[in-house]
Amino acid sequence: MADVAVELVLRSTRVITPEGTRAASVAVAGGKIAAVLAYEAEVPAGARLEDFGDDVLLPGLVDTHVHVNDPGRTEWEGFWTATRAAAAGGITTILDMPLNSLPPTTTTDNLRVKQEVARAKAHVDVGFWGGALPDNVKDLAPLHDAGVYGFKCFLSPSGVDEFPELDQEQLATSLAEITGFGGLLIVHAEDPHHLDAAPVVPGPKYADFLASRPRDAENTAIGNLIAQAKRLNARVHVLHLSSSDALPLIAAAKAEGVRITVESCPHYLTLTAEEVPDGASEFKCCPPIREAANQDLLWDALADGTIDCIVSDHSPSTADLKTDDFSTAWGGISSLQLGLPAIWTEARRRGRTLEDVVRWMSAAPANLAGLTQKGAIEVGRDADFAVLAPEETFTVDPAELHHRNQVTAYAGKTLHGVVKSTWLRGTQIADHGTPTEPTGLLLERQN
Ligand SMILES: [Zn+2]
Repeated sequence: MADVAVELVLRSTRVITPEGTRAASVAVAGGKIAAVLAYEAEVPAGARLEDFGDDVLLPGLVDTHVHVNDPGRTEWEGFWTATRAAAAGGITTILDMPLNSLPPTTTTDNLRVKQEVARAKAHVDVGFWGGALPDNVKDLAPLHDAGVYGFKCFLSPSGVDEFPELDQEQLATSLAEITGFGGLLIVHAEDPHHLDAAPVVPGPKYADFLASRPRDAENTAIGNLIAQAKRLNARVHVLHLSSSDALPLIAAAKAEGVRITVESCPHYLTLTAEEVPDGASEFKCCPPIREAANQDLLWDALADGTIDCIVSDHSPSTADLKTDDFSTAWGGISSLQLGLPAIWTEARRRGRTLEDVVRWMSAAPANLAGLTQKGAIEVGRDADFAVLAPEETFTVDPAELHHRNQVTAYAGKTLHGVVKSTWLRGTQIADHGTPTEPTGLLLERQN
């Protein structure tokens, strides 16, 4: 650090560090955190001071579950719009999911196509997950070497034809291959047999949709995944957990040393089945938003570490696909720009702290993906920050979202936590909800 001059000092009475919250001045040199100094520390000659007063300085959020859909379904979402929304929402790194774009990220050639499309549009740093399909086992090692952060698979239909699911045998084959080169498999865990057995009643009633995606589908798929992970000593990650019934299984597996991590999402943690209006398919996602009592148990599991992280699963579509028939509407909830205030609003109501939120939404997702340069305000890491006014509130106006499609389940909600600015490697990338220039880099797995 000593040979690079400090260019910027960020000062706040509330800086969230891994050791806790304190008044501090954070020195930035060469886009990295050079020092975390005393609040009153003298600003080095030639450095610029940004004093945020009592607004909180926290590490930029890391969102490892974003469907950008670019190229191919850019009318659903694109790198320009998604990364602008991320920047406005305090997120400085996203990892793009391998499906819903055309092509899907299932070969190295396809990865290169996606990287080329993303390169000039990225307002935040962007990395990529690969996809594990029934017929691409031979592509997994090359994709790993090309820098994807791990592989996503489905165990039930994904919703798009070009990204078929794995059966149990194919899961075993892919997982063995991925484990062989030390990779990570991330899994959409709903069991197809339980889904097939569930009643499908077309129409606008949320209760009918909920009954079509039973908890048992999640519980069974997670149980099977744990068994496979245990057998192969594989590293697996459960995407978007909704069913609290699976928590004891996961806790037991973790206690036994199974290498499993788990995420949940803002919609499962802040919205409830009881409040979803009939026909309001902006609330549709798979697995579904469940009951309030289920949500309470998810929060308990965050507190005790059974659930590791919170990421958006931002999965938009055009408005016309969000029909009022829950059985056929596109399943996916858009919340990239709103995840931090949505989670903070609920966390504070439940007596949790901003330090908890930072752990769940920055440190833990960075850790999941092995992004050692992200996720904490600590010397040597990238100078990525969000500046948050946690006591201020705002009412969600879809017109103010930078998402490509302004369809949101949070419309009209009053949330705590206004993101005042966002910083990427020492450069301001958003100011009061307005993104600036695209300075994001494309990230590749380093280890
Ligand atoms: Zn997803």
